[in-house]
Amino acid sequence: MIETDALIVGAGPAGLFQAFQLGLQEIRAHIVDVLPHVGGQCAALYADKPIYDIPGVPACTGRELVAALQQQAEPFAPGLHLGQEVTALAAEPDGRWRLVTSSGQAFLARSVFIAAGIGAFEPRRLRIDGLARFEGANLHHHLPDAALLAGRALAIVGGGEDAVAAALQAARAAAPPSSITLVHRKDAFEADARDLAALQALRDAGRVQVAIGQPTGFGADGDRLTHLVLSHAEGPDTRLALDRLLVRQGLSPRLGALAGWGLAMERKQLVVDPASCATALPGVYAVGDVNHYPGKKKLILCAFHEATLAAYDAAERLQTARKVVVEYTTTSTRLHRLLGLAADGGTAPRR
Ligand SMILES: Cc1cc2nc3c(=O)[nH]c(=O)nc-3n(C[C@H](O)[C@H](O)[C@H](O)COP(=O)(O)OP(=O)(O)OC[C@H]3O[C@@H](n4cnc5c(N)ncnc54)[C@H](O)[C@@H]3O)c2cc1C
Repeated sequence: MIETDALIVGAGPAGLFQAFQLGLQEIRAHIVDVLPHVGGQCAALYADKPIYDIPGVPACTGRELVAALQQQAEPFAPGLHLGQEVTALAAEPDGRWRLVTSSGQAFLARSVFIAAGIGAFEPRRLRIDGLARFEGANLHHHLPDAALLAGRALAIVGGGEDAVAAALQAARAAAPPSSITLVHRKDAFEADARDLAALQALRDAGRVQVAIGQPTGFGADGDRLTHLVLSHAEGPDTRLALDRLLVRQGLSPRLGALAGWGLAMERKQLVVDPASCATALPGVYAVGDVNHYPGKKKLILCAFHEATLAAYDAAERLQTARKVVVEYTTTSTRLHRLLGLAADGGTAPRR
């Protein structure tokens, strides 16, 4: 059980900036995300595409924005719990909230910030009976650590940019797999031109193979997959031997358990008071794409505004010993101290 001032559900741009804003209010936060990395849609759906409407940042990629948000929140060292979905929220008699994740981690939080975006991202799985039991063994939906792939036969199922990017990343590892085979129903991949050119170069060099076919079955030795069975438009099925299978057929968001937490919803979004982003449950806020109020726009800059309002409101509820007023990061010595800056606000770290 982790006791905390604030639990943030979702590590997208809204959740990361929420952690920063709570830090400025001296509210310690933990963040949970079902993905194995932070960044939400920016990282999962368009990591290398440019964004042009972040205020004061003429252009940055999804990946760059996420890195900057993480760096900005660093002084407050939010606890990060990745690869687990928050599945339950229940009120405690003392006014706190009890949350539980799919990994069994429990939190007791004085406030909750739901920054769940368009839902928990789930990998699209291969629909083959019995295959799921190899998850946690040698069936993966996110590229495993390079050490697990070194010298192994890796098969990657998928034809989109996720699959292509995984093949490139695996091939570029210092100790790459012994073989990399992309499995797709046709010899045509969808990714940006630069990645497609890099893939072709690896194919030409014999470092990546392509197997055309539809996975319809598998073979196993005990608790490990040993091969995929591929069906073809013509001709008999074939077998593809493998040590590790990575399925990269994209992600699909699922609102999941939070739809059952007793929160008012409109258009599959959580209804909040636009002045504070508070839901009807005391101490529970919703920020970013997941919330709804008149005039709501699903934009990153709106998420930043919402996280700021929610942090101020939570500070008034939780920081009873301090009068909560607007303070500027340029001039407030309290904020400089929290950010670990020199007393004069210079960027040198405080000793
Ligand atoms: C292709 C594309 C391009 C875009 N371009 C722009 C742009 O140029 N400018 C702009 O402003 N916006 C853009 N957007 C929209 C922008 O990405 C979203 O507004 C933004 O990501 C919302 O941030 P968020 O943190 O609210 O949600 P998300 O980014 O969706 O993050 C939510 C996170 O919560 C996690 N989560 C959900 N439920 C749970 C749970 N129960 N337990 C644990 N984790 C959970 C999810 O896995 C996810 O990581 C674009 C979107 C797309 C798809």
